[in-house]
Amino acid sequence: MRSGADFLPDSFVKQLKAALGSQSEYLLSAMDEEAPVSIRLNPSKLPPNQPDKRVVWEPLGRYLSERPVFTLDPHFHAGAYYVQEASSMILGEVWRRLPHSEDPEKILDLCAAPGGKSTHIASLKKSDDLLVSNEVIRSRLSILEENMTKWGAENVVITHNDPSEFQPLKEFFDFIFVDAPCSGEGLFRRDSDAISEWSEDQVAFCSARQNRILEDIWPSLKVGGHLIYSTCTYNTQENEDVIKGALSQ
Ligand code: SAM
Repeated sequence: MRSGADFLPDSFVKQLKAALGSQSEYLLSAMDEEAPVSIRLNPSKLPPNQPDKRVVWEPLGRYLSERPVFTLDPHFHAGAYYVQEASSMILGEVWRRLPHSEDPEKILDLCAAPGGKSTHIASLKKSDDLLVSNEVIRSRLSILEENMTKWGAENVVITHNDPSEFQPLKEFFDFIFVDAPCSGEGLFRRDSDAISEWSEDQVAFCSARQNRILEDIWPSLKVGGHLIYSTCTYNTQENEDVIKGALSQ
């Protein structure tokens, strides 16, 4: 049987095997499979017919049996659901496990485009909580704006700033989400460009950028607030090492 080891970069496979041992085989063969299609429903616009196969960790997550042409579906354009990988929906479980105040909270989604996490937070937050959805890359702003507008949430502000530009907002946010730009190993299954663009240098570059992003945004987190860091990569340099670096400071 073919596995990811046959078409993925050698150094990636080596690092995965070092991290996961014999379990790496499961991940490598899954990388050669078709990705399941899943959507997250908008609780304010539930469509009349909902698929019944549920995502275990997200009450509004559903699997579809095949990939439809979403752009032919009026409910897609109305923001009745967001097409999102089930694994990304774990954010809801994280949110539910964190302590929340009854008073309005301030939330920053620092790396927000195209809006998967921001639409999810918009459904989870209280209506008087403030959500700032930020995207630094100008060309990605319009898709973020479009998705947030279609989703239709109250008290959402879209900003276009570099993380360092938030520094005047000292100890301002109760929650900061950093879904960091990364080397994209999690995209290998559905995007062959992600495979050809991956390199160890790219991992090192991304890791340095992630450290910088956390350093820049940390002063804007309230004392006792929470910073939620995620990437779609498996390697330790872009995950555990970045968190260790932040904690050591
Ligand atoms: N959170 C988004 C979602 O769920 O739909 C996906 C975010 S994507 C993994 C990372 C985002 O970080 C991209 O939109 C990218 O443009 C942005 N980005 C790139 N360089 C950045 C930087 N130096 N600082 C902050 N964000 C950056």
